[in-house]
Amino acid sequence: MKENKKMKTIKEIRVDVNKCNGCLSCEMSCSAAHAMPPYTSVNPARSRITVVIDESTDAYIPIRAGDYAEAECAGRNKYTIDGKEYESCLLCPASCPSRSRFTEPDSGLPLKCDMCESLDIGEPMCVQVCHPGALTYHEYQVEAEDSITPERGEKEIGLEYLVKRYGLEEVVKSVATMAKKSA
Ligand code: SF4
Ligand code: SF4
Repeated sequence: MKENKKMKTIKEIRVDVNKCNGCLSCEMSCSAAHAMPPYTSVNPARSRITVVIDESTDAYIPIRAGDYAEAECAGRNKYTIDGKEYESCLLCPASCPSRSRFTEPDSGLPLKCDMCESLDIGEPMCVQVCHPGALTYHEYQVEAEDSITPERGEKEIGLEYLVKRYGLEEVVKSVATMAKKSA
């Protein structure tokens, strides 16, 4: 008898760099959708997607924010695509202490793409506004591995960062003060 395998949904944004024209609508709309409260401001520095514009190669490359890297890499990647050489770190999606990309400008907290799951908008915002079709959304099912650990969410990553920077005691005190104020 065939065993029933557990399935999980993979959400994917495919990027066709040849269609990207550098309009930056994705950056602006992502920052607006994730503003607090939503849609009250537009600030691409708060976007979880950035369009790398490399004038030396005439390329526009959208990159979505990935995981927070605690420390700068010991080694770096340097890509050559179609004979054009890109600066090292240029295509890396990490929020990393070596640069300001994907760091919230006011709080210094790392930013990570959440596939717009925190918003009730159907397809991700950056995909909806990308009229040239450089970003397209796809969902499909794959077999779930039993041993896979759940992905850490934005809250866990943010808290871990704050604890490392200020210490657990300070973070707990601040949360307690905030809780009193909002009670
Ligand atoms: S909205 Fe689309 S075409 Fe415009 S910069 Fe972003 S990825 Fe490129
Ligand atoms: S999927 Fe949503 S959170 Fe991620 S980059 Fe696009 S608009 Fe921003």
